[in-house]
Amino acid sequence: MSGVVAGVDIGSTTAKCVVLGDDSRILGKSLSVVGIDIVKDAERALEAALADAHLSRSDVAFITGTGYGRYKVYFGQLVVTEISCHARGASFLFPGTRLVVDIGGQDTKAIRINEKGEVVDFAMNDKCAAGTGRFLDVCANALGYDVSEIGPLSLQARRAVKVTSTCTVFAESEVTSYVSRGKDPKDILAGLHASIANRTLSLMQRVGVEPEITFTGGVSQNQGMVRALHQRLGAPVNVSPLSQYLGALGAALHGRERLSGGAS
Ligand code: ADP
Repeated sequence: MSGVVAGVDIGSTTAKCVVLGDDSRILGKSLSVVGIDIVKDAERALEAALADAHLSRSDVAFITGTGYGRYKVYFGQLVVTEISCHARGASFLFPGTRLVVDIGGQDTKAIRINEKGEVVDFAMNDKCAAGTGRFLDVCANALGYDVSEIGPLSLQARRAVKVTSTCTVFAESEVTSYVSRGKDPKDILAGLHASIANRTLSLMQRVGVEPEITFTGGVSQNQGMVRALHQRLGAPVNVSPLSQYLGALGAALHGRERLSGGAS
């Protein structure tokens, strides 16, 4: 088991860990919500992924930390930015990827990459939460839904309403005012997803839209967002049930490269 590596991605909202075997097959993974004690969250993320893999800490040869809380992964041997890790993870899963769109809890990034999965250019949203998972979390809450429900509901919309507020706080009150005017929540949700797709497209255009795009981060699990991006781009985007783990997977792959004497 000497070639087993792990990647731990501590985001602003969730902690992800992926354990990879010698052959780069995923042996175990974990996903949990991040709390106040990030150091403990990182440890728990690793322990949960190891339990999923039926392995113990001594089986792991190398650990890489990434994400917003990467410097709290004290038990790791390497730290890599989430931009490089999403690039590597997306390229591993979809080798033709040339543009990665990562929509996470509090930020959105467009990352242009080369055929080796290396970062060529990137752009990210400014400090506010507009266009991120947080924006959708707040609006879902305002409508009384769990965030996992809003994507499928938005797909049933008949006539999307136009959501003009980009600020999370204003969007929340815009949503509430549409509800009080009797608009169908499904149509409001479709409007919200379309508004995020617009913002995301602007971000992509800053680095250059490429033919093969891979959608990563937790919001990629939202089917409504996948469809809104498809509609806005006029082309499908790659997405997988592993998309939320691609930062952690990329971290593990960077670790594997370092372990074998590579340049990561
Ligand atoms: P970070 O890495 O920034 O902590 P993630 O990439 O894990 O965040 O994304 C978290 C966001 O993903 C949440 O804010 C939520 O909006 C979204 N999300 C996660 N799972 C789902 C799901 N099943 N359906 C819709 N949205 C989801």
